[in-house]
This record gives sequence, C-alpha cells and structure tokens, in this order.
Amino acid sequence: MSQVTDHGGGVWGIKVPIPDNPLGHTLVHVLDTGSGPVLVDTGWDDPGSWDALTAGLGALGIAVADVHGVVITHHHPDHHGLSGKVREASGAWIAMHAADTEVVLRTRSADPGHWFDYMGEKLTAAGAPEEHVAPLRAARESGRTRTLPGLRAAVPDREIVPGELLPLPGRRMRAIWTPGHTPGHVCLHLEEAHPANLPGNGRLFSGDHLLPGISPHIGLYEAPEDTRVTDPLGDYLDSLERVGRLEPAEVLPAHQHPFTDAPARVRELLAHHEERLDGLWRLLLAEPLTPWGLAERMVWNRPWEQIPYGSRNIAVSEAEAHLRRLVKQGRAEAVTGTDPVAYRAV
Ligand SMILES: [Zn+2]
Ligand SMILES: [Zn+2]
Repeated sequence: MSQVTDHGGGVWGIKVPIPDNPLGHTLVHVLDTGSGPVLVDTGWDDPGSWDALTAGLGALGIAVADVHGVVITHHHPDHHGLSGKVREASGAWIAMHAADTEVVLRTRSADPGHWFDYMGEKLTAAGAPEEHVAPLRAARESGRTRTLPGLRAAVPDREIVPGELLPLPGRRMRAIWTPGHTPGHVCLHLEEAHPANLPGNGRLFSGDHLLPGISPHIGLYEAPEDTRVTDPLGDYLDSLERVGRLEPAEVLPAHQHPFTDAPARVRELLAHHEERLDGLWRLLLAEPLTPWGLAERMVWNRPWEQIPYGSRNIAVSEAEAHLRRLVKQGRAEAVTGTDPVAYRAV
C-alpha cells in the first residue's frame, strides 16, 4: 500500500514510476465521483508503470475497466503516456486543454525527418556549433529518426475549458489555465473544503506548474510552422501569480510530495526567475551573446562540459525563453546584422 496515499475526501495518490528518470515517479491522482473514479494524469507508457498504476487502483478496489474519465494536466509523456491504455481498458474519456491537444495532433502527424531538419535549423539559428548539429543531420540521413517521442500519444476526446467546472457529478473541480511549462498546461482546483480543515480554498492539482522543490523547465513552445512569437516564461510567471491568488489549502503536485502555503512557493519561484533574468541581463551587458552562448554561461546543476547532448538542447530552449522575456521587458535587443542573431543588454 506504500505506493498509494489516501489524501482524504475521496482523493488518492498513486506513485507511478518513470523509468530511468531522476524525477522518480509521477503522482497519479484518483478522484471519486458520482460516475466512477476519475484520474488526474496517468503516468509514463511503460509496462512497469502500467503495473504500478493498475496495482495502485487495485489496492483501492478499483479495476481499470471502472475508470470513468481521465483529466490531463499537460501533454508530456510522464502525464499523458498511459492515457491511451486506460481508455482502451475502460472506455474512459480523456480531457486536455486545446493548446496541448494541438501539440499532440501536430506531433502525431509530424514526419520525423522533417522534425530533425527543424531542430537542426533551430539550433544553428540559436548559435549551436557545427559539432552539435552534425549528429542530428547524421541521424536524419541514416533514417534513425523513428524514435520521436509522442508519435503515438492518445488523441483526447474532450476539451478542458479554462475557468469552467469539469463535468464530474458530486464534485467541484475547476480548470485553471496555467500556460508556461506547456502552452496548454492546466491546474485543477478542487473547490471543496479541505478534509482536514486546513485553512485556505480547497485543493489544487498542480501538475508540473507548481512543485515543492523543482523549478519546472520553461523553454520555447516547439512548433514548426508556427510563426507566433510566444513568451512562455512571461506566460509562466503570470500563471504562477494566478494560482498563488487561489490560496489553496493544499497543493497536490504531479511529482515529489503535497505541500501547503502555495503563495509562499509562488513568491520563491517568482524571485528565482527574477534573479535569473537579472543574471542573464548582466551577461548580455558584458558582451552580445547568441542563445547558445548564453546557455553556455548560465548556471546549471553541473558544468556545461558535463551536460549531456539532449539536455543541452533543453538548456538552449530555456535560454531562449529567458531572452524572449528580456526582449519583451525592453531589457535586451537583437544586434542588427548578426547571424546567428546575438543579443545585447539595453
Ligand atoms: Zn511536464
Ligand atoms: Zn512531469
């Protein structure tokens, strides 16, 4: 039973492992409703994870076939990975915000070769050196491109509409749109008294938006053919303030552990990003930098030389998100005539 936690008031959490990932597990939540159990997120698509999910449900006396619906906080595979299997086994509906459903549809229809080209061009434009882009090109040419994640992600059948209550008989759960980590990330606010009478307004299923000890990855919304200039970090900071104002009595995140005092955690994260933006602004004051150059100089959890290939791509995307924010704030600008484009502090 150690993999299942009873949060009271008809809410349980099941630890579903994520293989080979330092995060360890996804906390899948089970909500008792008048129409049957509803899941918030499902976990990574892996046989061991599926076993953990079904065993956790079994410990609660629930067969997978009984699941009535699946509410997804965002499209990432550690949240949406098992949704298709759950639907197959139960006929449950799957609900997701339209902006993340768009990502699912786009990824499913993407030609992997085309995606590799896009990634290569994007990295070159960000100032990545030739030796970093070359492996992508080599993989493309050898046809080793069939492992693109998300190619088989389940297409949701319902839309989560921000601000609306989800159709869950006997429960009051409202969708709060919290873009930033993904364009269609939602938190789910259970507008019911806390079962242990903790002070505050109900409980918040926060997905990856608000975690007790991790600052979620904020990169660019990767979208070939999409010419909108988005500001994911700006979206994220706005979304943080939005959930802070809800003042939930308790937060049930999708990783790590439940916590209280959401406004304090929101303040911490806002201060963290403020500090980071200031630090990057100072780097740009010293010399104009491409996103890659900026990523190389940013503080990560280990020296740049030790950051593995895939994580460098994520780091560059994060550097670009911060640059977008600085440009929007009028604190940085592109240096005309540079290719790849370098940015300087204003
Ligand atoms: Zn995520
Ligand atoms: Zn996650």
